[in-house]
Amino acid sequence: MACVNACPRDAISVCEDACGYEYPEIDLSRCVDCGLCERVCPVHHPAGLHEAPCAYAAASLDGGERASCSSGGMATVAGRYILEQGGVVYGCAQLSYREIRHVRVDSPSGLGQLKGSKYVQSEIGLVYRSVKKDLEEGRPVLFSGTPCQVAGLKGYLRKDYLHLYTLDLVCHGVPPRRMLREDVESYPATGFPADGRADTSVQFRWKTQYGIQYGIQFGVRFGDRFGANGAPSSGGKRVRLPHDPYILAFSTGLSFRENCHHCPYSRLPRVGDLTVGDFWGLGAHEATHFRIREGVSLVLANTPRGAALWEQLRSRLDVEERTVAEAAAGNWNLRRPSPRPSGKDRFLSEYARGAGLARACRAGVPRLQYLRIDLMERLKQFRPLVSSFKRLRLLVNRIRK
Ligand SMILES: Cc1cc2nc3c(=O)[nH]c(=O)nc-3n(C[C@H](O)[C@H](O)[C@H](O)COP(=O)(O)OP(=O)(O)OC[C@H]3O[C@@H](n4cnc5c(N)ncnc54)[C@H](O)[C@@H]3O)c2cc1C
Repeated sequence: MACVNACPRDAISVCEDACGYEYPEIDLSRCVDCGLCERVCPVHHPAGLHEAPCAYAAASLDGGERASCSSGGMATVAGRYILEQGGVVYGCAQLSYREIRHVRVDSPSGLGQLKGSKYVQSEIGLVYRSVKKDLEEGRPVLFSGTPCQVAGLKGYLRKDYLHLYTLDLVCHGVPPRRMLREDVESYPATGFPADGRADTSVQFRWKTQYGIQYGIQFGVRFGDRFGANGAPSSGGKRVRLPHDPYILAFSTGLSFRENCHHCPYSRLPRVGDLTVGDFWGLGAHEATHFRIREGVSLVLANTPRGAALWEQLRSRLDVEERTVAEAAAGNWNLRRPSPRPSGKDRFLSEYARGAGLARACRAGVPRLQYLRIDLMERLKQFRPLVSSFKRLRLLVNRIRK
């Protein structure tokens, strides 16, 4: 969307293909052939990448905040700090399940709407223009998003602003918003959200005593999104992986944009000043005091600016220094993009011909894979037992040494 924001003649709009994937389209009658759209494009001109010397495991010291965020709440902690400096924060908000887009936040009360991972492509709209305006007025800006969105912003700006801080998420890939809309609207029998409330929203993951659970959970937004610990403020039907087709297509990679499978930013080094994700695999070989099931942020401070911001944030977080190798070992999207699943062509052709998400998933996900995902989700309840065993083994190894 860098091109849409940059075009001086507003000649580029966004159009959808048969599956809902969005692409820029140039209105040639307005185009003056200035070439700016190509110059700002992060695909034609990849953004610079930066390497972090070490990794951190981190979680907000505020237990309530940590519970209501996706991982350890690092993105929210960073946002609050920037607001305290008189700055503004840009990130992805879910105004309703139909409207998931990047917004500008200039007060602490607005930060709540950015919390939580929305597993869908966030609409960028003309937000890059708004970021530029804030930067030119001298305000510190924190921009969070997927790595390609950060690269898009940098391409659009075409110059470095000292008070711009970028935070990229470790990213699996993104499905189009149309698929999410159809999925939510396929649940009329529940009575919710069949009443068509404009403020219906969904949650894609929540924390349980067994670990992080993926699925679709419906809620009605009252002010600050969902309540603590992922509980919706009202309503609350939950359909866990793999029984909801949207989350099944997301977790198997069937519904990702085609370019996600060869994303140049899903790797180390990174495009943002800071990188934030889940610290999967934390403590697998080296003991940790964190419990992964409560959500732990992985943080990489990739640039000197990112490191300076991180120094300001550390005192607000419970932090452990770890290695980049450990972070990458547990998180494949730090090593390479998500692979293209073999059933993707079948999934897309079923969906494009109007069969609906559930049937498209049946075409794209082999029965055995479905059963394996179901089994793995059921086995999650034994995770606390497994991690106690791992801790015991590490302790015994240490005593032996
Ligand atoms: C589509 C997607 C795929 C992801 N895949 C992985 C993965 O494979 N491995 C991994 O370790 N982590 C992944 N993450 C990141 C992870 O789920 C958490 O979002 C991240 O750890 C931040 O957690 P937090 O507690 O610090 O954030 P919170 O404090 O809860 O704040 C959430 C932050 O995420 C941003 N955000 C939420 N949804 C979107 C979106 N759709 N587009 C852009 N920005 C968004 C918000 O702007 C906000 O800054 C993914 C996130 C998304 C959105």
